[in-house]
Amino acid sequence: MADTGLTSSIITLDEEWGAHNYHPLPVVIAEAEGAWVTDVDGNRFLDFLSGYSALNFGHRHPDLVQAAHDQLDRLTLTSRAFHNDQYGAFCRELAELTGTEMVLTMNTGAEAVESAIKVARKWAYEVKGVEFDSAEIIVAAGNFHGRTTTIVSFSDDPLAHDNYGPFTPGFVTVPFGDAEAVRAAIGPNTAAVLMEPIQGEAGVVVPPEGFWAEVRAACDENDVLMISDEIQAGLARTGELFALDHEEVRADLYTLGKALGGGIIPVSAVVGRSDVLGVLKPGQHGSTFGGYPVACAVGRAVVELLRDGEFQQRSTELGEHLHRRLGELVGHGVAEVRGRGLWAGVDIDPAAKTGREVSMALRDRGVLCKETHHRTLRMAPPLVITREEIDHAVDSLAAALAV
Ligand code: PLP
Repeated sequence: MADTGLTSSIITLDEEWGAHNYHPLPVVIAEAEGAWVTDVDGNRFLDFLSGYSALNFGHRHPDLVQAAHDQLDRLTLTSRAFHNDQYGAFCRELAELTGTEMVLTMNTGAEAVESAIKVARKWAYEVKGVEFDSAEIIVAAGNFHGRTTTIVSFSDDPLAHDNYGPFTPGFVTVPFGDAEAVRAAIGPNTAAVLMEPIQGEAGVVVPPEGFWAEVRAACDENDVLMISDEIQAGLARTGELFALDHEEVRADLYTLGKALGGGIIPVSAVVGRSDVLGVLKPGQHGSTFGGYPVACAVGRAVVELLRDGEFQQRSTELGEHLHRRLGELVGHGVAEVRGRGLWAGVDIDPAAKTGREVSMALRDRGVLCKETHHRTLRMAPPLVITREEIDHAVDSLAAALAV
């Protein structure tokens, strides 16, 4: 391993100098490949969080690294006043993959969500005919869509929300998974329903079966857009391209991020209906780096990886194995396991241990994942993980719970 000159003491520096609130595990990662990371002291860990699903294809997937290198050698950035030869191809290929008509490229997940909100509002005024400045968007309790000012305005997580006001109005919150509440919240000014298909940060919360079909019907009956935030759940994480595909429901707009950049660079997008995204006219929205050549080249390589369904298949098959193995721990320190594909929320029995205690004990056994809301372990291994590695992680969890 390369001599980084760092030692674990950097953790202290990190916490003093880095303005963040993720409350990280005390491990300083210096290198990674596939499903494994190596810390500054040369210890290897199985990565069971996979960059919150930004690393669906594992660390430094060779095709993605190659695409980035090739593009860096050719063209990195142009002014948005010119075309570049990667942009159009990326948009077309992503639209084909997702079965959508139009693509709006941005950089981070939060920007994609912000863009979807802007588009939904503009569509409401210009197409639906909602009274100016009155558009409403229905969101779910327990949501996480990013950390920009408008997005935290409708977060009910005090850590994300508190003391950032004055907040952006125009959002109505209903319980997640309650289709009747969505229907009751729809009024003449409703532009859209914006939700995660499965709530990630909330602890991998899966709504009841039929929820999305009912939301779709309510949206159709009332000329309301349905926006699925697939930034964490999408791109094969749950075994389908979109998590919503499990419900055989189509959204009008999808937000994508994280794995769209392959864990190499930030790439996000809103994809969906052209009559909705098309409300944006030239000059009305954009970003210096949104759709820049390196992003598009890596994004095209990601699309290529997803095209033949291999990763979706891996997530389905290995996910079944993961959930079967985790299910064996219920009643043995685990209260509940939720999720789909290679994605699980594992509620630790509070009578046994805290989530942080289990995360730390897992780290000591060479497996990295992290608790959310104190008692839920979020597991999202890279989709290149093997059955044996899953067994190793679940055996480690059983051992960590037993001490
Ligand atoms: N939407 C969802 C569902 C997410 O899980 C996240 C990040 O975790 C975001 C949006 C925000 O993405 P980013 O951190 O890239 O801004």
